Amino acid sequence: MAAPDPSKKVADRYLKREVLGEGTYGVVYKAIDTHTGQTVAIKKIRLGKQKEGVNFTALREIKLLKELKDPNIVELIDAFPHKGNLHLVFEFMETDLEAVIRDRNIFLSPADTKSYLQMTLKGLAYCHKKWVLHRDMKPNNLLIGSNGQLKLADFGLARMFGSPHRRFTHQVFARWYRAPELLFGAKQYGSGVDVWASACIFAELLLRRPFLQGTSDIDQLGKIFSAFGTPTASQWPDMVYLPDYVEYQYVPAPPLRSLFPMATDDALDLLSKMFTYDPKARISVQQALEHRYFSSAPLPSDPDKLPRPAPKRESKASDFNLQEGPTVLSPPRKSRRVMPERDGFEGNSQQADKVDGGFGDFRQTTDDNSGKNESAPMSVDFSIFGLKPPNRPTINSADRTHLKRKLDLEFQQPE
Ligand code: ADP
Repeated sequence: MAAPDPSKKVADRYLKREVLGEGTYGVVYKAIDTHTGQTVAIKKIRLGKQKEGVNFTALREIKLLKELKDPNIVELIDAFPHKGNLHLVFEFMETDLEAVIRDRNIFLSPADTKSYLQMTLKGLAYCHKKWVLHRDMKPNNLLIGSNGQLKLADFGLARMFGSPHRRFTHQVFARWYRAPELLFGAKQYGSGVDVWASACIFAELLLRRPFLQGTSDIDQLGKIFSAFGTPTASQWPDMVYLPDYVEYQYVPAPPLRSLFPMATDDALDLLSKMFTYDPKARISVQQALEHRYFSSAPLPSDPDKLPRPAPKRESKASDFNLQEGPTVLSPPRKSRRVMPERDGFEGNSQQADKVDGGFGDFRQTTDDNSGKNESAPMSVDFSIFGLKPPNRPTINSADRTHLKRKLDLEFQQPE
């Protein structure tokens, strides 16, 4: 008699429920662990037809996550292959920070913003202490549990960064959260890229919309420079040596206060330190956590008192074109990854995976988060402050070949 298939046995342990969303590498399902009764989230990763038969991104995620155990990191409970797919079982998280930020029924007090940022930085500080960069920090990768705890998720792009000579792809991060050194093509970079992205998240918490919404890498840099002024050589000496460096017209920085009129002085001080151009001068995550912003009044809210969106009802396939729901302030996650304008706004990105051998009780449904089908993203909307938008710098010295090479690069997928 043939030996029982061990993967089947493991798979039988979980009862599949509805689709929670679709990520870069596959569909995520809600499921019940029949051994413990615990609700879990299973990320199904297509192993693909790679020659090696291995999806290195998946393996990297498993290895990293297994080593990372912290209250502010999503726990990887189990991992098993099933029907040619790799299944990663995570603790189930109720919502994410993007849903909180865009829910117009939610009022975020300064203490709430402080608490969400503090948990973000604590999770990140833990990663950096273990010499791991997250490299994909953005609000929808910050998941929130039923007790209000925020946890970092989706380490698909993270990687060990111990060796000083290691060269990385700079095509990481959703563009809006990308640090200027990445946008200028830095091949070697450090934990500062996560700090910059966290600063964008901090800004987004304060503004309740994505802060710097570039439509291409060049435009992203333009938006950064119009917000903080074009960096000078004395501010960032290494800038001119970066592979994709192009000179932008000098524009001065508007007062930071004019961009964040409601922020406290401490919040602005921390924000400016996190948004420092030169990655060598940028504040570290640990230093940010020690900043007086976190010890001054109001103290961070208790996680279980934080406002969160109403729990999602179980969705049905027929809800797919639902038009209602909160206005979405950001493009669908696919367009927020590396692809530029070309892929714009795709509807139906949440579509359920149709081909599934199925295990347990699987009802094919879709995420009811139909707000992902939104209209054009907003850029920094200075008009609400009654201000003239600051000058937009233009490129001075970009030669055509160089620019073409850069634009071509944007159509490459992340590694
Ligand atoms: P991406 O690769 O685009 O960052 P993921 O694959 O991490 O996305 O997740 C896709 C979606 O699945 C998320 O937006 C979220 O709605 C849902 N999701 C992921 N992990 C969990 C989890 N642990 N608990 C609940 N939902 C999750």
